[in-house]
Amino acid sequence: MKNLFLHACCAPCSIYPLKTLKTKDPSLSVLLWYYNPNIHPSSEHGRRRDALSYLVHSQGKFLPREGTPVEVDFGAPYDAKLFLERAAKAESREERCRACYDLRLKATAGEAKKRGYERFSSTLLFSVKQSHEDIVSLAREAAELNDVEFYYEDFRVGHKEGRALSFALDIYRQRHCGCVYGEAGL
Ligand code: SF4
Repeated sequence: MKNLFLHACCAPCSIYPLKTLKTKDPSLSVLLWYYNPNIHPSSEHGRRRDALSYLVHSQGKFLPREGTPVEVDFGAPYDAKLFLERAAKAESREERCRACYDLRLKATAGEAKKRGYERFSSTLLFSVKQSHEDIVSLAREAAELNDVEFYYEDFRVGHKEGRALSFALDIYRQRHCGCVYGEAGL
């Protein structure tokens, strides 16, 4: 694999995927794409964006020094209305989370294709709290729809290591998953 368009949900979930990918192949070109219209409120969206920016600036502290530096793109719109419209149609928490993954993964696959990337993936695959199976099946659907490959790796195996690194790097760790429903415990 030459390059990877990697959807980043937040900084703590990005550490281990970046570490394992770049340790295996330091020449791999990775672009992190911050697209998370689910995050509420906008100040929290900004806070997670700043944490990811800090992480990318600190990459020398946890990634191999040789090779291609990881880049990040914060240009995606904050489509809060789009997320809320989709979430409002869901009849259960599971359905809402599926809609949330679907929105972000389809946008990622489409953006990867538009930019000429051969593969996309997501740091959502690091989370032990999300439905891993739903994320994988929706990412496969998004790949087929956009005619671009989905790179799968079960990043959950590095959960302990990623968590420890987030503390060592003093990265902001959010208290709720992201949306207003999750914040309210719904
Ligand atoms: S709880 Fe998390 S995954 Fe589920 S809809 Fe809210 S932000 Fe998305």
